[in-house]
Amino acid sequence: MNSNQKSSKSLYDIFFDVCIIGGGASGLAAAISVMEKNPTLKVCIVEKKEELGKKLLATGNGRCNITNSSCTDYEVVKDFLNNSGIVLKEEEHGRMYPQSGQAASVLELLKWRVKKLNVTTFTNCQVLSVIKIEEEGFKVNIDCANEKVIIPCKKIILACGGKSGPQFGTTGDGYGIAKTFGHTLSRIYPVLVPLECEGVEKSLKGIRVKGKATLLKNEQPIVEETGEIQFTADGLSGICIFNLSRYIKLELDDYTTLDEAFKQYSIELDFLPEMEDEEVIEFLKDRRYLMSEMPTEIYLASIINMKLGEQIIGEALEDKISTIGNITYKGIEEIAMLLKSSRYVVTGAKGWKEAQCTGGGIILDEVNLETMESKISEGIYFAGELLDYDAPCGGFNLHNAWLTGIKAGRGVAEALTQKMVIGE
Ligand SMILES: Cc1cc2nc3c(=O)[nH]c(=O)nc-3n(C[C@H](O)[C@H](O)[C@H](O)COP(=O)(O)OP(=O)(O)OC[C@H]3O[C@@H](n4cnc5c(N)ncnc54)[C@H](O)[C@@H]3O)c2cc1C
Repeated sequence: MNSNQKSSKSLYDIFFDVCIIGGGASGLAAAISVMEKNPTLKVCIVEKKEELGKKLLATGNGRCNITNSSCTDYEVVKDFLNNSGIVLKEEEHGRMYPQSGQAASVLELLKWRVKKLNVTTFTNCQVLSVIKIEEEGFKVNIDCANEKVIIPCKKIILACGGKSGPQFGTTGDGYGIAKTFGHTLSRIYPVLVPLECEGVEKSLKGIRVKGKATLLKNEQPIVEETGEIQFTADGLSGICIFNLSRYIKLELDDYTTLDEAFKQYSIELDFLPEMEDEEVIEFLKDRRYLMSEMPTEIYLASIINMKLGEQIIGEALEDKISTIGNITYKGIEEIAMLLKSSRYVVTGAKGWKEAQCTGGGIILDEVNLETMESKISEGIYFAGELLDYDAPCGGFNLHNAWLTGIKAGRGVAEALTQKMVIGE
């Protein structure tokens, strides 16, 4: 156990007004928001990992795509972040990052804010269960480094995330706790994941390109994304692919295996989305003339990644042709086709460890979305990814965590402050 409050009291003797379970994005936002509204309240965060906010450090490839300016209630989140000293910078498509480009700076500022507001934090402490004691509030059962302790409190904010990225502490514990209070869990599944695909050359692993990716089901296009695409050892990754992965809905029945269900989907990549097919052919013809004496393998150099270019040329031209001037019209058509519509059959998707978000969760109908309080069990509030909400890459998932954390914090503080006024 590790507390920022230097106290000799055992946890049994400490009574908290609010116990926040989970010290990630939504838990930190909730703690700060309770204290902003009523600094006299006693608030604690219980965090399973040895540090608060471990997942935050990994967000946006360490840069933290913190929110998106197109989000509903963007100003609420922006004010919250600014008040914590976080300076924002806008990039394309409304994506907001800390000016520093460092996720670590975001976490550092939030941790300081929490400390300054006198929130007690317990790290290395896993909440095992929560029991409601009528009239009194709750008892939170915790395993603190193999020591079983209980925290009594008036209100609970469940902010322990979903199941994505279990290496950051999120192993779905909140779902079980919510269920004990009568809540319903919709089917959960990993989203924003890399896809495993047939036909991706291993040698392309690690290559990142800009392009358009289209998801097809049974040869019919479903959705397309333009942006970064990354080749992996066994498939495709990158923001475009993560976003497309949200649309793969496997229909399994007695006659369809998992493998068959995945293979109904394929990804088509267009490496030159700004050019029409005909334009590419004309361009390649001109280039054949310009570079006629040069070796074939550099035909696409400076147009797309060199390694990818060589791979496309190798695949398009059946016979080895040494100089560009000898490439036939048919060869040019083949190269153009691979540049505009390389097709890869989906064979699988990566699991929880590589997922950036959880699809499904605690159903929203059972929660008051203004205060985030349970409609089923008074005194229990929800925030973050454990709710049935997920969004594409672009800062939307962190936005949801901040916003629901702010609402839950304010909702709890409001309820407790009213009780104080009434004198309960
Ligand atoms: C690699 C990666 C990159 C991402 N990048 C982005 C991005 O750039 N932009 C974006 O918008 N979204 C991003 N996301 C998604 C985003 O990080 C999450 O949606 C968001 O952090 C969810 O916030 P949360 O508070 O609900 O959960 P978390 O931030 O996951 O926090 C939950 C906390 O609860 C703790 N906990 C769990 N169970 C218990 C328990 N029983 N007792 C005590 N504590 C417990 C966990 O240890 C964890 O610290 C990314 C996700 C990943 C995995």
